[in-house]
Amino acid sequence: MKLMIASKNKHKIEEIAELLQDIDVELISAADFPEIPDVIEDKDTIEGNAIKKATEIANFTGMLTMADDTGLFVNALNGAPGVYSARYAGENATYKDNRVKMLSEMKDISDRSAYFMTVIALAIPNKLIGISEGKVMGEITEKEIGTEGFGYDPIFLAKETGKTFGEMSSEEKHKISHRGRALQNFRPILKKYLQL
Ligand code: IMP
Repeated sequence: MKLMIASKNKHKIEEIAELLQDIDVELISAADFPEIPDVIEDKDTIEGNAIKKATEIANFTGMLTMADDTGLFVNALNGAPGVYSARYAGENATYKDNRVKMLSEMKDISDRSAYFMTVIALAIPNKLIGISEGKVMGEITEKEIGTEGFGYDPIFLAKETGKTFGEMSSEEKHKISHRGRALQNFRPILKKYLQL
């Protein structure tokens, strides 16, 4: 059985492959099929976007498909940027632009609590099989710390380790990260579907 990963992001694909390596399924991804269209992520929740991506790509390819969506939710900003995390500083914002905007919005704010949340959806054509979630609690730092990772990693201090994701190796990060946890929770859903 083949499983399509509805993503063209190499980091994500590698991480997913690592966490599902012992499951008897052949992983392929949208990165290898340029004809697969980019899905417009226009839902107002990360769950909505994950479901939309998984079902649209399942319908396009006719295959079992998984898709994920992630957001950073900052309490003092009423949950922003949330579903808009990728384009927080504008439509073509870079990771750096988004971090700079976050640090500036959070200037002088004392409640710096925040969390990352990932939702993963599994679908076949015209049918959602299931969804899983993963969450990690932390806080927004006052400046960038560390150079590992991507996105908001250097400004997100994980509560469980007292370090930013930017200071953690990918192995260390994935043990506690939103995506790592969502993938752990995804495994039984996939195994059940594959009757493993
Ligand atoms: P996506 O849904 O995985 O594409 O994530 C949306 C946005 O959230 C990305 O563009 C990043 O800015 C941010 N993001 C997602 N995952 C992470 C992470 O593990 N660390 C830091 N930022 C992340």
